[in-house]
Amino acid sequence: MSGHDHDHDHEHDHDHEGEHDHDHDHEHERELELEARRMLALARIRQYGDGVLRMKAREVETVDDDVRRLAARMTDLMHEAQGVGLAATQVGVLRRLFVFSDEGDDRVIVNPVITRRSDETEVEDEGCLSLREVLVPVERSSAVTIEGLDENGEPVKLELELPSARVVQHELDHLDGVLIVDRTDDESRRAALAKLRPQPVLR
Ligand SMILES: [Zn+2]
Repeated sequence: MSGHDHDHDHEHDHDHEGEHDHDHDHEHERELELEARRMLALARIRQYGDGVLRMKAREVETVDDDVRRLAARMTDLMHEAQGVGLAATQVGVLRRLFVFSDEGDDRVIVNPVITRRSDETEVEDEGCLSLREVLVPVERSSAVTIEGLDENGEPVKLELELPSARVVQHELDHLDGVLIVDRTDDESRRAALAKLRPQPVLR
């Protein structure tokens, strides 16, 4: 909608003409709230330059309440940050698990292993909650089978195609300290690193 001001009473004005504007106001408030939540969530996710993002996570021995609490916290954070996946490494926990949104369904995979990948690959721009302003082309297998344990410690085996196949390859990389800048072409890497380099403070 156009940018004219809406300064009438919000809750109690039910005249027909006003309704559309009220919806718009509420939608705008909702957007602002979501954006504020997103920024708060991102502040709780480890960012590029943090050494932990380069470390290899270790296997989870037992899927216990601690692991379930961690997975639940990561799932909330992923949604608040408006991401589609989050690895434990990104919250500073070096254990092998990640959460992701499998086309709308929340999933947890503990000790994930890719047991099959397609010969076919696809290159597409990829972002990362730990490298906020970066979007670089990354080649991934178009289909993968991933196995591990779910949040109850039960074996899980998912046969995934794009886009979920891309998400799990990205998240599994995090558990080995690998980032999208390692997976892209030289030119894109140079441009991304220039963006990520701390800018000098001018006084
Ligand atoms: Zn990432």
